[in-house]
Amino acid sequence: MYKLMTPGPTMVKENVMKARSLAFTNPDLDMDFFEDYKGICDMMQEILNTENKALVLGGEGILGLEAACASLTEKGDRVLVIENGVFGRGFADFVTMYGGEAVLFSSDLHRPVDLASLEQFLEKDSNFKYATVVHCDTPSGVLNDVTGICKMLKKRGIITVVDSVAAMFGEAVNEIDGNIDILCGGSQKALSAPPGLTLLFVSEEAFFAMENRKTPIAGFYANIMLFKNYYENKVFPYTMPISDIYGLARALKNVEEDTEILQRHEKLATACRNALTEAGLSLFLETGHSNTVTVMNIPDGLTDEAIIEGIKKDYGIMIAGSFDIMAGKVIRIGHMGEGAREEILRATLEGLEGTLKKLGVKLTASIVESFDKNIANR
Ligand SMILES: *Cc1c(COP(=O)(O)O)cnc(C)c1O
Repeated sequence: MYKLMTPGPTMVKENVMKARSLAFTNPDLDMDFFEDYKGICDMMQEILNTENKALVLGGEGILGLEAACASLTEKGDRVLVIENGVFGRGFADFVTMYGGEAVLFSSDLHRPVDLASLEQFLEKDSNFKYATVVHCDTPSGVLNDVTGICKMLKKRGIITVVDSVAAMFGEAVNEIDGNIDILCGGSQKALSAPPGLTLLFVSEEAFFAMENRKTPIAGFYANIMLFKNYYENKVFPYTMPISDIYGLARALKNVEEDTEILQRHEKLATACRNALTEAGLSLFLETGHSNTVTVMNIPDGLTDEAIIEGIKKDYGIMIAGSFDIMAGKVIRIGHMGEGAREEILRATLEGLEGTLKKLGVKLTASIVESFDKNIANR
């Protein structure tokens, strides 16, 4: 089995695997499960410091993105899709799928969305029901100032949807209440639980918009409203994946107990980026690197596949290429959750260094030595 240093799924701790393997009850009929589920949602609110309603949905991170669009969009609604990456752009598909009109605010892939340009755009056109934006757009690794962006949108009465699947728990999500109406997270990124669950944080205002639709929500599995009163009514729209949820609970406790988690992501990500550039390699982004993933340009004459296969075969570690418009341009090292540990990140860089040398790349310094120096100098 390869060690996973991909930007999701990430490695999972033993205690999470164990929690998933325990005997379980009937989550539809046993009232204890409703208490457990609510306890987990309360813990999510506490960790992210928000009063917005926390929910866990049975389905991978993408479900949260689709559920937000399905639950908010009515035919003809104008939706602002703020994008500088693959996932950002992808929101337009969900919007149109549910009958909305997606208006794109597109910006350069190599840096975060510029707030001043967005402000200028909004001065001319701000007639949108809601807007979507991605926190860390994983294929390029760019980190957007979602709180700053959402503040600007809320000032104009626009509901906000944020995909923080690849940032949440590795990067801070600040000032959620009053700014971010639907915040999406997932189990398999910095939370280091297996793939399969969506985390949602939904504001009163978002629920109000869903309740006051003229037409019913076109969907069942992606209908957020069906979860709103699960606790009061003691009913879920479908049988909850109880074992996954017990694993998630343990992963959340791991995060809660890990008081240095954000600092560690920052320290290791900085050391990783510095190590690569000091060795003469180049990063895809100009600015705005997320601390959950490092995205490196492929050295001339090489392919992503050759590098990835080399590290897999000789070092037993899996890193990733990219996809969509980013395919074949970069390789990506995920260092989020359990991947944000010095030992495994160092081993990954050792694998990268060895593989690049084997493929004939001349480095200007040792990646691993630079990494160690960067760590020691903190
Ligand atoms: C991983 C990820 C998702 C969820 O995608 P899955 O295909 O469910 O893994 C959504 N948004 C971003 C930015 C992601 O990195």
